Amino acid sequence: MAEPACIDPRHHVHDAHGFVAAVERACHERGLRLTPIRARVLGLVADAGQPIKAYDLLELIRVGNNDDGEGAGAAAPPTVYRALDFLLANGFIHKLESVNAFVACHHPNTAQHSVPFLICDNCHSAVELEDLDVVAQLEERAKSLGFRPQAQTLEVHGLCARCAG
Ligand SMILES: [Zn+2]
Ligand SMILES: [Zn+2]
Repeated sequence: MAEPACIDPRHHVHDAHGFVAAVERACHERGLRLTPIRARVLGLVADAGQPIKAYDLLELIRVGNNDDGEGAGAAAPPTVYRALDFLLANGFIHKLESVNAFVACHHPNTAQHSVPFLICDNCHSAVELEDLDVVAQLEERAKSLGFRPQAQTLEVHGLCARCAG
């Protein structure tokens, strides 16, 4: 938790509370509403520190409800899925299709965007590459072929520096 931000992109979302607050501000600026359940789901995704599956989120929310009664009944699975949809559609989280899990986006001020991810198969960390050139090139090539991309999954699997070392 004491990791300095912005050195390792993986640690960019080290402070879940700060991250939720940043998204709250972004929502305000963009005229969106970060409802309590959306904020809750976002906080859990940020707090996970690695890609988290919807199934695990549901479990965390269920357990949390037992603990403090907060939002009991309001966190039925469809509600959680709708919260995830909202967060995805607005670029606050990303879905990693190859592992079917969610990660917080560490630049919540940009709108929905597709970027490549490096996913470690050993420690399951996922690093978002902030290189939009790769995406722009891909879009350009697709366009030149008359192809209209609707979904983009750029996920590179392997070993992170720590695990490879
Ligand atoms: Zn992102
Ligand atoms: Zn690793």
